[in-house]
Amino acid sequence: MKLLEVKNLKLYYQSTRGTVKAVDGISLDLAKSEALGIVGESGSGKTSLSLALMRVLPSNIDTNEGKVILDGKDITQLSEEEFRKEIRWNTISMVFQGAMNSLNPVLKVGHQIAEPMLLEKTVNKKEAYKKSEDLLEMVGLPKEIFNRYAHELSGGMKQRVMIASALILNPKLVILDEPTSALDVSIQAQIMNLLKRFKKELDISMIFITHDIALSSDLCDKLAVLYAGEIIEKGTAEQMFGKPKHPYTQLLLASIPGLKQDASPKFIPGAPPDLTSPPTGCRFHARCPYRFDPCDKKPPPAFKIEKDHLSRCWLNEGDKK
Ligand code: SF4
Repeated sequence: MKLLEVKNLKLYYQSTRGTVKAVDGISLDLAKSEALGIVGESGSGKTSLSLALMRVLPSNIDTNEGKVILDGKDITQLSEEEFRKEIRWNTISMVFQGAMNSLNPVLKVGHQIAEPMLLEKTVNKKEAYKKSEDLLEMVGLPKEIFNRYAHELSGGMKQRVMIASALILNPKLVILDEPTSALDVSIQAQIMNLLKRFKKELDISMIFITHDIALSSDLCDKLAVLYAGEIIEKGTAEQMFGKPKHPYTQLLLASIPGLKQDASPKFIPGAPPDLTSPPTGCRFHARCPYRFDPCDKKPPPAFKIEKDHLSRCWLNEGDKK
């Protein structure tokens, strides 16, 4: 059963250089208890997408169109007050990128975890603090951490605190924006294992945002690859890792270093396009080693490869089913 459906989402910002088309017609869906990986380079639109789901877009947003259906209800129609009461933190919560560095230095971390619950005023302070302690233990920290301050914690501990904070109101969906990017590899693995455990035990859905496609392989049931504000390929983890169809996805996978292979990892030449004037045709054409005649003129539609698997590349026109 679908928990979330995003339909034709467009997010454009005003800037001194013109209109930035950060997200340009994205559609995706997520079932209950499923983890969806959103993969892309910086500036591909993945963070804008998550900020739109939480309704915390920056003030220079100029166009915000499309539908976001949660549990069958179009939440774009809710007033700000309704959204704050019913959705933000209650139903959809988020671990923001770099959030572990924004913990308040003068408040005990346990209090900060409990804060959304205290603001709700549905339970008293004692109950909220008890839930905070329970969550600390759930994320693998001793409950004594409750009385510590942010400067007394390591990066991995702070990220566990942020995850605990996102879980305090028992949301149905947690968005994790690059939750491991500032951590050592061994700590990254611990956080990924924690997320896998939560997905299984807490029965929650997750949107895992990352620039590292390899990292998503263990956790995510489905993947959507973003490039220049568009989803260029999406499918199940099996389809995306086993039979990637879009050249950009293939190049992302070829760029993963392997411990046991002799071949050096490949890199993707060039840089993503300027989104104030996105390229005509396929947005990847300037970097694509396979471009051919229609690529720089006609934007490819999303071709259906097989059930759940779509690729926005002219090479896949013949694969259409
Ligand atoms: Fe490459 Fe053309 Fe496919 Fe774009 S449509 S990814 S340029 S082959």
